Amino acid sequence: MSENKSSYIKIKNDRFIVDMMYAKKTNMVGRAVYKEINWGNIAVVHVDLWERLEELTKVLEKEKLKLKICDAYRPKIAHEIMKKIIPIEGFFAKTPERSQHCLATAVDVCLCDDDGREFLFPTKVDAYKKKYCEQVLQGEVDEFLSYLKKARHDYFDEKMKNAISNRKMLKDIMESVGLESINHEWWHYNLPNGKIDRYPLIQLDVKELG
Ligand SMILES: [Zn+2]
Repeated sequence: MSENKSSYIKIKNDRFIVDMMYAKKTNMVGRAVYKEINWGNIAVVHVDLWERLEELTKVLEKEKLKLKICDAYRPKIAHEIMKKIIPIEGFFAKTPERSQHCLATAVDVCLCDDDGREFLFPTKVDAYKKKYCEQVLQGEVDEFLSYLKKARHDYFDEKMKNAISNRKMLKDIMESVGLESINHEWWHYNLPNGKIDRYPLIQLDVKELG
């Protein structure tokens, strides 16, 4: 498949809140990596993914909801930096080619109300918590991995009914436009068939995007 820069869309829409977690320090690596590489708080997706997300605007509007985009296209160089900060197996894809974020065919999202207040979910997006970030950076992963169990779609806890019903509502909304969930991260959604055999690993320049 041949691709050019016009195949990539910068998300600018009233129903979407762009709050890229790697453009600020509150993320698993504790650094504003996207700022460091002059990318910034910008959410870009492949047009094939955008077509599905754009379909959501009607339902979001009707239900008075907003979708917060916490990660989208991840520049290859950002992936490499993050991988160097946490070189532990299982945290970041082995190579950028294997990450649908680097191909612009995945998003990390959560739901907010009309005023942009985040709904409650069983964990933070990307399971980010400062204490786990600090532990993981020290190589202590046990407590974090135990917390990560709550990030699964099959996690259930009677005491978290509200958060779990929000997780389900998000899943229903994302699946209604044909996006795919992955079981171990409630916030991550893929464009089906959005892998390297169909979408190239591309280095986008922020200045070239509209
Ligand atoms: Zn993700």
